[in-house]
Amino acid sequence: MTLRFRVLGSGSGGNATLVEGGGALVLLDAGLGPRQLAERLQSAGVDPGALDAVFVSHEHGDHARGALAFSVKWGVPLALTRGTFRAAGFAAAKLPACEEIAPGETRTIRKLAVRAVAVPHDAASPLAFVVSAGAVSFGHATDLGHLSRGLVDAFRRCDAVLVESNYDPAMLRDGPYPWSLKERILGPFGHLSNGDVGRLLEKGLGETCRQVVLAHLSRKNNHPELALQAAEEALGRAGRREVEVALAAPEGTGWIAVRASRAVARRRDGQMRLF
Ligand SMILES: [Zn+2]
Ligand SMILES: [Zn+2]
Repeated sequence: MTLRFRVLGSGSGGNATLVEGGGALVLLDAGLGPRQLAERLQSAGVDPGALDAVFVSHEHGDHARGALAFSVKWGVPLALTRGTFRAAGFAAAKLPACEEIAPGETRTIRKLAVRAVAVPHDAASPLAFVVSAGAVSFGHATDLGHLSRGLVDAFRRCDAVLVESNYDPAMLRDGPYPWSLKERILGPFGHLSNGDVGRLLEKGLGETCRQVVLAHLSRKNNHPELALQAAEEALGRAGRREVEVALAAPEGTGWIAVRASRAVARRRDGQMRLF
């Protein structure tokens, strides 16, 4: 079964990732305005009204800004936690359809499964997602302040992961943000640094993972080259040269196919036993 994804927006300007697999199409976050979101879907060759659901990770504007208007305009249901629903102010709106999803739960649309994973971030009830079609899985985690056990466990079985690499600590400390905001970003419920991602890639990546996308880079507190270098050095230390690393630009990426490396590994095991 094939699984592929395409980042439509990344960073403080708005986050959204399109995922297709198992006969379903879903959006993870809708942090772009509804018109821009529709345009980017159309340039990906997708009719916005053909989406099966929009999963909203948390209520911050760069993830939820366009969700309500997009859902109303295109008749696409939202899926989100009760905390996000309340904090985003969606309770007062007339949504075409809205489904509550709690951390640890999985929603299955045809043969595409989306699992909600709780993450530590300063929002009401924020989530990461693991999207699976058959034996292939893709992990998607944007805003989180530290690498929680639950997230690392969920990502260990993924064939591809997208994770935020938000800031370089020295750039953040010396940068223009007020100290209160710096403290928030650096704190356990803020964002992941390039070094945090390095630790995940060095120690927490599953054997089957072959692709890493670094996302949600801060324009003021990071450089794409620094994020990429930290990730590649970490993979080098772990002896994982087979893992490809890509950066999500603010305007997104092209389609990225998730390869079924676990299935390939299993087949190889079978062949080994034959001899
Ligand atoms: Zn956030
Ligand atoms: Zn964010």
